[in-house]
Amino acid sequence: MLETLRSIIQEVNEARDLTASLEIIVRQIQRAMNVKVCSVYLLNHNLERYVLMATKGLHQDAVGKASLAPDEGLVGLVAQRSEPVNLEHASSHPRYLYIPETHEEEFESFLGVPIIHQREVLGVLVVQQSEARDFDADEEAFLITLSAQLAGIIANEEARDAITGFSPTGLKTTDAFFDGLPGAPGVVIAEAVTVFPPADLGAIPKRKIDDTKKEIEFFNDCLNAVRIDISELKMKVKGQLRPEERELFDAYLHMLSDNALGAEVIAHIEQGNWAQGALARVARGHIRNLENMDDDYLKERATDIKDLCSRVLFYLQEKEKKNRQYPERCILVSEELSAAMLAEVPKESLVGIVSAKGSGHSHVALLSRAMGIPAAMGILDLPFSELDGKEIIVDGYNGRVYSNPSDELRERYEEIVREEEQLSEGLESIKDLPCETLDGHRVELWVNTGLMTDVLRSLERGAEGIGLFRTEVPFLLRDRFPTEREQTEIYRQQLEAFEPKTVTMRTLDIGGDKPLPYFPIKEENPFLGWRGIRVSMDHPEIFIAQIRAMMKASVGLNNLQILLPMISNMSEVDYSTRLIKRAHQELREEGLDVVMPKVGVMMEIPALMYQIKLLASRVDFISVGSNDLSQYLLAIDRNNPRVAGSYSTMHPSVLRALEWIAREVHEADLRVSVCGEMAGNPGAAVLLMAMGYDVLSMNATSLLKVKSVIRNVNYHQARDLLEKVLMEEDTEAVKAANLKKQLTIFSSSWFKEDIL
Ligand code: PEP
Ligand code: MG
Repeated sequence: MLETLRSIIQEVNEARDLTASLEIIVRQIQRAMNVKVCSVYLLNHNLERYVLMATKGLHQDAVGKASLAPDEGLVGLVAQRSEPVNLEHASSHPRYLYIPETHEEEFESFLGVPIIHQREVLGVLVVQQSEARDFDADEEAFLITLSAQLAGIIANEEARDAITGFSPTGLKTTDAFFDGLPGAPGVVIAEAVTVFPPADLGAIPKRKIDDTKKEIEFFNDCLNAVRIDISELKMKVKGQLRPEERELFDAYLHMLSDNALGAEVIAHIEQGNWAQGALARVARGHIRNLENMDDDYLKERATDIKDLCSRVLFYLQEKEKKNRQYPERCILVSEELSAAMLAEVPKESLVGIVSAKGSGHSHVALLSRAMGIPAAMGILDLPFSELDGKEIIVDGYNGRVYSNPSDELRERYEEIVREEEQLSEGLESIKDLPCETLDGHRVELWVNTGLMTDVLRSLERGAEGIGLFRTEVPFLLRDRFPTEREQTEIYRQQLEAFEPKTVTMRTLDIGGDKPLPYFPIKEENPFLGWRGIRVSMDHPEIFIAQIRAMMKASVGLNNLQILLPMISNMSEVDYSTRLIKRAHQELREEGLDVVMPKVGVMMEIPALMYQIKLLASRVDFISVGSNDLSQYLLAIDRNNPRVAGSYSTMHPSVLRALEWIAREVHEADLRVSVCGEMAGNPGAAVLLMAMGYDVLSMNATSLLKVKSVIRNVNYHQARDLLEKVLMEEDTEAVKAANLKKQLTIFSSSWFKEDIL
């Protein structure tokens, strides 16, 4: 069974489009289950009906025509119930419905299972038999298992079609959208450019081309380039290898010849595939076959094929890269965007970012926030390769991407873009005014930084300090740990730019979703594993170098404070403060006039909430990392798009925890801040202000919006609102109450981010 399942999924994965996938599914299932009929019905959203999309056994003319409403027939029943219907005598069931187009009257037994993707019934998979047949539990389980696996593939294929503007049944569709996670705030409409990692045969997306002749010429050029390389290599090793060993190169040249690999690839290009996709497909097929061989010698040949094809791919990509023209305004799209990919686009052209993997906390999202470019991340079902060259809308507030927008939708978003421009212009005037409520309650607005660009933008917006300098960002951008001297330079820039305002530098917070490329950490459960202070404590040499660099950089400026991430135990605080004091002592002994900085702790782990008094006796301030605190309170991975819908810092329990922390820290006479993303969300910022937080630290883009909202509210109004939302039962109720109340006070435009 497992083998059959695997082979069906594999074949479907290789199919060129949805129609081909469905044809494979019905053909293979009909054979595997030995049934007379196998059919797939898919929901057409425009018609609100389940349309027969492929069949083996029913009349072919009915494909695309025969359809059932959810309350019609047995197919509708499966969809309605979202569970299998297994009938030995289908014709006697009250929901049995004869559809004339399908000529199905002679089929007596029926087994239908729903095709469900992310809670939504996409369609129904049906098998039928002429005579009465009691499909047993194994058969039912087989069909359910298959359907669960096919659902993702079908959803992807449907998404692909939606992008081209057609539903699977051929009807025109618009406003196809894909949901992910907010990456960086803002909205943008522009042309998508899809990029992917170099020389990775597994990452090449499918792409259709019109000019097959030109593509074949291009492929032949690249193939020739590899042939020349191999011939040169053969010459080069002349003196080093024996003639029989050098014969291997002849074998390679043969593989690359026109009637071997080359011919297969060309055959795929002729069917309208682009060269890279055709090559990847041929390579994958051969590699799989060879790897499955029993013979070790043949198994080894898989490596040769991989190597040769990667070489050809390298040329295909290099040449394409050279010819690549970026549109004047481009939205960069990829399965997983990297900083290097971002760097390749001319700075003035880059207006938006979309990544199918990652989250708002990924490296790329941090960069896009620093650049003030809207970004949507973690869009699992995004058929990213299909977006290339298409006009798309990126809604960075909600992490949503629209393709194929209708005129109305485009106009609506153009209006939002215009509105935002006006609002930003209007905000300039409050840049130097204090952030205080109408009745004089003062809260300080600081910024989160990572790069120097953040610092400059922050100063332009009147930031009163840096509440979180994520020092791992400069670490991430290198290929080795920066030296103490390099770090000193980086830190000095930030301290100098902000002097005399305070700069809070967090010690290295790697691990979780932030592995350094040169210091890989492989763990089953990275967010519960070796991250933040835990890594620093196990590598005191890295920690001490960092502390020394921070202190050296602060000489003469004295505006540094140090923040420790991911603290869960007093022993971690004690050990790190001991190391900090030692570093301070050493530097003074080295003759440097270093002032001992304040040391604070990030409140990110719920356990620490119950030791605040103890903690307060050891540190100078506390900063709440609401991103991680929410993650650990809710037990929801903040980076996992699959559960992103349930992650929210507006969950009533998270808000209660935040209120508790503010009260406890104040009772211990320390200052408390929030430096998680919620601080930059105007709707949430009002609540945090009402809880009594002294400092809100956020990305520079949000600063003036938050200030504008706080300057327009009374403290007592905000307290009332807080009391009300704390009584709500769930996130949705909190958001609704918060939004309703705030809308009565402010213009709605500020609360687009209320989706947090
Ligand atoms: C947080 O967890 O809220 C925080 C600010 O830290 P980071 O997002 O860098 O983990
Ligand atoms: Mg954190």
